[in-house]
Amino acid sequence: RGLAIGIDIGGTKVAAGVVDAEGHVLRHARRATPGAEPREVERVIVELVGELSSDHRIASVGIGAAGWMDLDGGTVLFSPHLAWRNEPLRDNLERLLRRRVHLANDADAAAWAEWRFGAGQQEQRLVCITLGTGIGGAMVLSGRLERGRYGVAGEFGHQILVPGGHRCECGNRGCWEQYASGNALGREARELARANSPVAQELLRAAGGDPEAITGAVVTELARAGDPASRELLEDVGEWLGIGLANLAAALDPGTFVVGGGLCDAGELLLEPARRAFARHLTGRGFRPPARIVRAALGPEAGLIGAADLSRVSLRAHGAVR
Ligand code: BGC
Ligand code: ZN
Repeated sequence: RGLAIGIDIGGTKVAAGVVDAEGHVLRHARRATPGAEPREVERVIVELVGELSSDHRIASVGIGAAGWMDLDGGTVLFSPHLAWRNEPLRDNLERLLRRRVHLANDADAAAWAEWRFGAGQQEQRLVCITLGTGIGGAMVLSGRLERGRYGVAGEFGHQILVPGGHRCECGNRGCWEQYASGNALGREARELARANSPVAQELLRAAGGDPEAITGAVVTELARAGDPASRELLEDVGEWLGIGLANLAAALDPGTFVVGGGLCDAGELLLEPARRAFARHLTGRGFRPPARIVRAALGPEAGLIGAADLSRVSLRAHGAVR
């Protein structure tokens, strides 16, 4: 009763699940994100919906996708990490699935889930950040997702923090997500390993001797096991995270920042340096209440849970016909 399918399409993986009205995931499925072709992504979604609806009665389907949705939620305008350009994804999926589909930005979906069921409950001004391939951003203000005038508010990952810095998939240089995402962590670790520094020994060993095989996940795992170089790399990323959050606090003054996404597996190894940098860079520090910075409660499932719940809410609001 009241079950929905939620599907979270990120830069590297597609995570899906059957979700009940309390935000519990009853069944999971996942795939690697298929390469460059939008049709391939649609094919994977159809496959996942087929698989997940085989032994549950599903009322609605929600998609959270790593891209910029138009305000109406029908079109993916652009995605830095995927092939969508003005893609009428919702219509395509509704045709293929013969069901109503609700489309949201992946970070919006995750923020919604954390506000409804997770670490952001009861927060009047919630800002949510997801750290994965890129940085996702979203705001839930007075219980409403704030999506901006054209649907693309909260693209915090593309604030330019370092003019002339690392090139970003969005086309600019120096975006925040080039410094504080899972990808950024992997890039810094590979660079360290390529320099053949003895401090990178453990990293190289874990990657079978090939610097190019080091990912953010490898660094996180080693850091948790106590490798000093991996801990330093996470500290650096945490510092960039805290600086970006201080900028967001200057603009938005939230009560809570919830930080989620795959990189959050690092837990306090990331958040502690982030809190320190936040406290050090917050404008007006000492003379204003600082926002809380907490780890997402729903972990990597937040996106799919939120996508499912948003589809349920939208079905309730709009009924069977759009
Ligand atoms: C994209 C966002 C997305 C985020 C996380 C960013 O690069 O611009 O739309 O939410 O990555 O996937
Ligand atoms: Zn960018």
